[in-house]
Amino acid sequence: MKRRDFIKATAASAAVVCGPETALARPNLEPAENAVGMLFDSTLCVGCKACVSKCKEVNSMPPVIEGDKLSWDSARDLSPKTLNVIKVYKDGTAESKDQEVDGFCFEKRSCMHCVDPGCVSVCPVTAMRRDPLTGIVTYHADACIGCRNCMVGCPYNVPQFEYDEAFGQIQKCQMCNQAGVERINNGQMTGCAEACPTGATLFGTRKELLKEAKQRMAMKEGEIYNYPRGDLSKPDHYHEKAIPAYQQHIWGEKEAGGTNVMHISAIPFDKLGMPPLKERSSASIAEGVQHSIYNYLALPAIALAGLSFVIRKNINEDTEDQGGNS
Ligand code: SF4
Ligand code: SF4
Ligand code: SF4
Repeated sequence: MKRRDFIKATAASAAVVCGPETALARPNLEPAENAVGMLFDSTLCVGCKACVSKCKEVNSMPPVIEGDKLSWDSARDLSPKTLNVIKVYKDGTAESKDQEVDGFCFEKRSCMHCVDPGCVSVCPVTAMRRDPLTGIVTYHADACIGCRNCMVGCPYNVPQFEYDEAFGQIQKCQMCNQAGVERINNGQMTGCAEACPTGATLFGTRKELLKEAKQRMAMKEGEIYNYPRGDLSKPDHYHEKAIPAYQQHIWGEKEAGGTNVMHISAIPFDKLGMPPLKERSSASIAEGVQHSIYNYLALPAIALAGLSFVIRKNINEDTEDQGGNS
């Protein structure tokens, strides 16, 4: 075999496998075509926890034990029995609502239904799935092998494993659209948005919710705004309230590729325990690196196939030459 043929065959194989962009193979996923979600406005939340108990009712979740009593709404954090929780931010004397210093506010924790979900990316058996139309991230126990990768892949510590069950499963909010519930597929809103008396948890399409959030931010502090309640496409109630001193930041517009559940607040999000996230999703980076590794592992096999082809061609040519000379 000629040296020039060897180099050509190897280079051609490498070109097929490794493009220059392979190490960062894909950008963030885009929001689903008809993405639905929720807007949580912390300045409207009064901490009544109607959303917590409604979530338990809709999802048939048991109460938690508080002291010697069973409670439907006093869970302090997410758990396999609680998929939606209201937490309290307090500073100093905690005198005024929505004030960073000596103030307090409420913050919701539940699955953010990421646009480019880490839990889906790391699940080896597609037990976590993002609906291509609605963007809702659901869990499928029948496929789950209990590896708990999704717990590590989620930047918000959302998936919860049932450690105290013999055949434990993962539990997380599925936006009230899992098998047996399917409120969204049936034209209903989420249980938490339906129960929320103030519109602090508002249901709608991601596009409309983002527009609504930007509209609130664009207004001057103290101006009167008509806040909708329930489903933004058909609110069942409005109430007037002065615009607070919003942080000019919609959590979930861009973080890690964005989320379908977005938050706005008068208190900076780092104070509310949100994680520091860049705009690039970890899923897009991890999958890029992963694909590069697979590609480079495939390279020797493809180079070998190329070499075999060239060697076979040379042998055939030699045989033909010898046949011709005899
Ligand atoms: S625990 Fe289940 S859902 Fe989570 S990553 Fe493993 S297989 Fe997927
Ligand atoms: S918040 Fe966590 S569990 Fe929910 S979609 Fe995002 S990565 Fe998955
Ligand atoms: S129901 Fe609404 S106001 Fe009440 S705690 Fe939940 S989000 Fe806040």
